[in-house]
This record gives sequence, structure tokens and C-alpha cells, in this order.
Amino acid sequence: SVFDVSVAPADALFGVLAAYRADPSPTKVDVSVGAYRDDNGKPWVLPVVRKVEAIISADPSVDHEYLPITGLPDFTAAAGKLVLGSDAAAISEDRVSSVQTISGTGANHLGALFLARHPPANKVGPTTVYISNPTWPNHKQIFSNVGIVLKEYPYFDPKTLGLDITGFLSTLESAEAGSIILLHACAHNPTGVDPTQDQWKQIAEVMIRKKLFPFFDCAYQGFASGDLDRDAWAVRYFLSLGLELLVCQSFAKNFGLYGERAGALHVVSSSKETSVAVKSQLAVLQRSEISNPPAYGARIVARVLNDPALFKEWTEDLKTMAGRIQVMRKVLYDKLIELKTPGSWNHIIDQIGMFSFTGLTPAQVAKITKDFHVYLTANGRISMAGLNSKNVEYFAKAVDSVVRT
Ligand code: PMP
Repeated sequence: SVFDVSVAPADALFGVLAAYRADPSPTKVDVSVGAYRDDNGKPWVLPVVRKVEAIISADPSVDHEYLPITGLPDFTAAAGKLVLGSDAAAISEDRVSSVQTISGTGANHLGALFLARHPPANKVGPTTVYISNPTWPNHKQIFSNVGIVLKEYPYFDPKTLGLDITGFLSTLESAEAGSIILLHACAHNPTGVDPTQDQWKQIAEVMIRKKLFPFFDCAYQGFASGDLDRDAWAVRYFLSLGLELLVCQSFAKNFGLYGERAGALHVVSSSKETSVAVKSQLAVLQRSEISNPPAYGARIVARVLNDPALFKEWTEDLKTMAGRIQVMRKVLYDKLIELKTPGSWNHIIDQIGMFSFTGLTPAQVAKITKDFHVYLTANGRISMAGLNSKNVEYFAKAVDSVVRT
């Protein structure tokens, strides 16, 4: 063959999902998937999304023409306000370049590609990104695909099952000026461990002093805590310090629009002139990759974000999802305490968002899958959304059993 290729390893997460689907056991539990499930274990279309779908399909002015290269303007403008804050100085001063992307993945890619072409001007040496250890595995591929050097900062402390703030800060202290620092805006994937507001302040202080560039990945706004403003706090705090930064935004989880690929990239610059130039370069990159972003999901999001009554309904739907996940954390925690499962389980209720790093070892994960048909990735990460009132007790007993062996 003219192709010099070998078989690539299958995606770890989607491999677990395939094994779950193939398992005939009636008691099987899937806690691998990063998507919301209702209390019956089924995908959930948000009621506000159903409503807007009906409005759009009845609207004779909606057609299937191309969107502009940088996306639907009603969508990108409202999306920017949602994450940066509607009163953000960067918005009123026209310093934000917003582009609609192929969900959060596409935003990460376009952001990385842009920085590969136009790296921070103060960088020394090759363009470098620091990612948390661990992180969403796709971050590595996305940045290495565009030729950016990858380095890691310590993040998760296996001893406390919490944040290694000391390791995190000391790595930032030693990072070269102009390095890109990838930060999860809220609900860190895969650990569920977020910095406190005080820790964010410490992180920002070092980043300013060391002239590091903030690259925020925001995939869970409103879905993490049920409160849109609280989940955007870190991004807005960095903005309030007058920093130039970049935000990747996904509407997969908070709108349940996984397959529609609705997302945005927002690049905040120090001046309107720079911002115009940045947007023009983003448009050039976007043109060569996808020409025009997909319309359907962006239309749904735009209608909701731009209509106060629909927006309010959306916040109720967010509370439904975030609330159910929080209840599952508490119920799981209570069951493990009741079973007197060895170890400390406070992290189950302390962690934030859909994911929890249980602390189960790879051997315990293998055993829980083999003996109990419970599916999760080898790093011990579970999605709380896979638990419900029917399976949580079974799951707790399975954890209890493998922890004791
Ligand atoms: N970043 C992080 C940290 C994520 O967890 C996800 C979703 N798994 C994404 C980005 C992007 O997801 P999507 O492309 O579906 O918006």
C-alpha cells in the first residue's frame, strides 16, 4: 500500500460504551458516559428545546442556506454574553472576537490552531500549552495535532482526592513566559475537582506575574451547579483583571444538544483593533476547515438565549439536571456510609458536576465490570448521570464489594 499506517488504539471511552452495549445483563450499569440521563436512565431532551424545535419548524422564514463563516450572529453574541457576563467591559468595548464552532471540541481546535499560527507575542521557545494532569484526553490530541508542545501541571492529589494546589502553583511559577495554560472553567473533567475562588485568585496572580496566557475550556456552564453565573465565575474573574484570554464554550451538556455540535470560541483582546484582526484570522482558518458551522443547534440556543421567557424555562431545566446529579451524589454517599465501605467518601459530595473520581484502582474497575456489569473507565471516573433511583443501591453495593477485596 502507499499508506504506511498501523491500527490506532480505539478511543478508551467509546470502547467502554461498546462493551456495555454488548453486555446482555439486565442489571448492567453504565457510569462511563459523559451525557445526562434521566431517572429512567434515558437521554433527556430539555422541554425548552422541544418547545423551540416546534417554533423553528413552524417558522416559514427558516431555510437551509449557509450561515456566515463565523456563524449565526444572534448565537455568537448571546453566547459571549452568557459566559463573559452581559455587563463585561470587553463586550461593551468591542474587544471580543466570537466564532461559532463545532461544539466545544471545535472551539478547542480552532483556539489551538489560532494560537499555533499566532502565538502569544511574549513567548520564549516553542509554543507550549500546559494541561492539567489528568485532563479530558482529547486536549492532548487537539494541541499536538496543531504542533503545540504539551506540558502538564499537577492537578489531582490521589492522597486527598482533591486539588494539588501547591504542585499546580509551583509549576505555573516555573513556566516560561507566553505559555498557554489550559484551565477548565468549572466541573473539571475527569476529576470533578475545581479550585475554590481563593485558589483561582492565587492562580490568576501567578499567571499575571509570569505572563502566562489563559485558555479556558467551558463545557459545563449551568450544568455543574445549576447556576450559570457561579459556573462562569473563574472566567469573569480573570476578565475583571483585564487579562487577554480565550474561552471555548460548549452547549452539548447544558442544552442537551450533544449531536448538534453547537459551540463557540471567544477571544478577548486588549483593543478593538486587535479584536477585528483576530476575528478576520479566525474566519480564514474556519473557512479552510468547515466553511460554515451547522445551523440547527445554534438556532435553538440563539432563540432561548435571546428570549427572556424561554431563558427562564432553560434555567429551570438546568436546575432539573444539576439537581438530579447532586441528589445522586448524596444518595451514593449515604449508601456507602451506611454500608461502612472502607475509606473516606467525602469526595463524592465535595466534587462538582457530572463526573467523580472515585479513587477505584484499575484492578477494582476491572473487577466491578467483570463481577457486577458496572462500566467505567480504568481511571475510576464515574458519571453521576448514569446513576438513578433504581440502580444507585446496586452500584453502591458493587463498589463496597470491590473495595473490600
Ligand atoms: N472540553 C471538556 C473538558 C469536555 O468534557 C468536553 C465534553 N466531553 C468538551 C470539551 C467538548 O465536548 P463537545 O465537543 O461535545 O462540546
